[in-house]
Amino acid sequence: MDVLESEKRGNAVGQRDLLRGQPPATGIRNALTVDVEDYFHVAALAPNIDRDSWSSRESRVVGNTQKLLSLFEEFDVRGTFFVLGWVAERYPQLVRDIAAQGHEIACHGFSHRLVYEQSPEEFYEETLRAKKLLEDITGSAIAGYRAASYSIVRESLWALDILVKLGFVYDSSIFPVRHDRYGIPNAERAPHRMSTPEERSIVEWPLSTASILGFRLPVAGGGYFRLLPYQLTRWGLASINRRELRPFIFYLHPWEIDPGQPRVSASRLSRLRHYTNLEKCEERLRRLLGAFQFGTASDGLVQLGLLPGNDGSARLRAG
Ligand SMILES: [Zn+2]
Repeated sequence: MDVLESEKRGNAVGQRDLLRGQPPATGIRNALTVDVEDYFHVAALAPNIDRDSWSSRESRVVGNTQKLLSLFEEFDVRGTFFVLGWVAERYPQLVRDIAAQGHEIACHGFSHRLVYEQSPEEFYEETLRAKKLLEDITGSAIAGYRAASYSIVRESLWALDILVKLGFVYDSSIFPVRHDRYGIPNAERAPHRMSTPEERSIVEWPLSTASILGFRLPVAGGGYFRLLPYQLTRWGLASINRRELRPFIFYLHPWEIDPGQPRVSASRLSRLRHYTNLEKCEERLRRLLGAFQFGTASDGLVQLGLLPGNDGSARLRAG
């Protein structure tokens, strides 16, 4: 069913569905995304974890990502995996396994350093390194990028020019909310083509927020998915499909379905963000996968007319 057709079913039906607690069937395919990194890469824990200790810590990213792959297989959904270069270098077979199951491989940078803490030269080098590595492993062009901890903010919009120079066709790093570490509070909420500071153009899929009485509620996934009541997330996501008639983008990290991960001592706020409801997350994810339709971010952008379809994507790859 296309969007217009579903709209013709009438708002009353949609409202009833929302009130009954059933997200309405809209025929819209949302983007399911995973940022492939380990629990010790996370920005919230960074003050308490020395980078030099990464290689000696117990890595759980392969097992947790495989768990997500099985779950996605069970629900017959394909998504986009933004893989950290550090992980891809150590576990290239994991990247091949993800790609072999029909998912899109995209880039999550190399070092998980925040973009606005890097110089443009450093950002160029590490992003090129990560992109090349993923392309060597998969044998395909990498189209999408997501910054560590959504760190493309007003002060680091220059990064978008570097992404275009490196051949990325879309970015999903801008979180249109207010947060202490990331966010452009007034940024456009819908996926769109945007101009970079040097007047190039790139497609941006901002992390999803629901609009409630003029406020923006981050319902895109991750910590918000674990901290907010599931019903609120589902309502917010359904409202994007139903009222705004467009797909949302959802994200999760492999460590978020791993309550058994080693605990790291950190500030109270960081512990709240990282550890709350880890044990509930997999069950919530199952409910979400059953409630909405999902696909890759690239497919979603093609569906929206922001990226060219089959023939066009071939041209993009060739170019
Ligand atoms: Zn990350």
